Amino acid sequence: MNDVRLPFQQLILASGNPGKLKELQAMLGEQVTVLPQNQFVAEEAVEDGLSFVENAIIKARHACSASGLPALADDSGIAVDALAGAPGIYSARYAGAGGDAANNAKLLEALEGLPTEQRGARFISVLVLMLHAEDPTPIICEGVWHGSILNAPRGDHGFGYDPLFWAPEANCSSAELSPAEKNHLSHRAKAMAQLRTRLGLN
Ligand code: IMP
Repeated sequence: MNDVRLPFQQLILASGNPGKLKELQAMLGEQVTVLPQNQFVAEEAVEDGLSFVENAIIKARHACSASGLPALADDSGIAVDALAGAPGIYSARYAGAGGDAANNAKLLEALEGLPTEQRGARFISVLVLMLHAEDPTPIICEGVWHGSILNAPRGDHGFGYDPLFWAPEANCSSAELSPAEKNHLSHRAKAMAQLRTRLGLN
């Protein structure tokens, strides 16, 4: 284990997703400022890995390389049991370039008519922290959040598939949770708890 003990006060987030930035900054707290990558990175990384881990490393390395700063990447998505784990690493682009609303509509259509007990799903987040582009020992943390897919969207908070994800321990959709509640239960929260430990922040 290569615990890092915070040799930095700011990190680039290797993502343009404002939902992720908000959640990760809230979870990391005030000791570390999370900067969006858009002021450093001209072109997005090509995510051509076949796993969350590979894509997170590709994104973190790309952001380090463009900024010269440590970078944190979150590669995440939803894996649906009845779809053999799809959309998985392709969650952001499940319905092409249509964004969250089109992704959610496509997922509802794919599961149409399936009873609740066959609608199991999990959110996955892999966080990768790299100190520099040639960092040979990236810190890799993974969190999983088990739930199921609703028949219709519920709630206005969060982003992505949150309105369709039933969180059984909270008895509501993840878009019905307050940001603080989601940041306590989510896949990203679980991965971040590990990262905080590795960084000596707990
Ligand atoms: P990435 O930016 O390639 O990692 O894609 C992540 C995609 O997975 C997002 O665009 C969402 O569609 C989905 N996703 C990941 N985490 C969450 C979450 O916490 N709530 C809802 N959707 C999520």
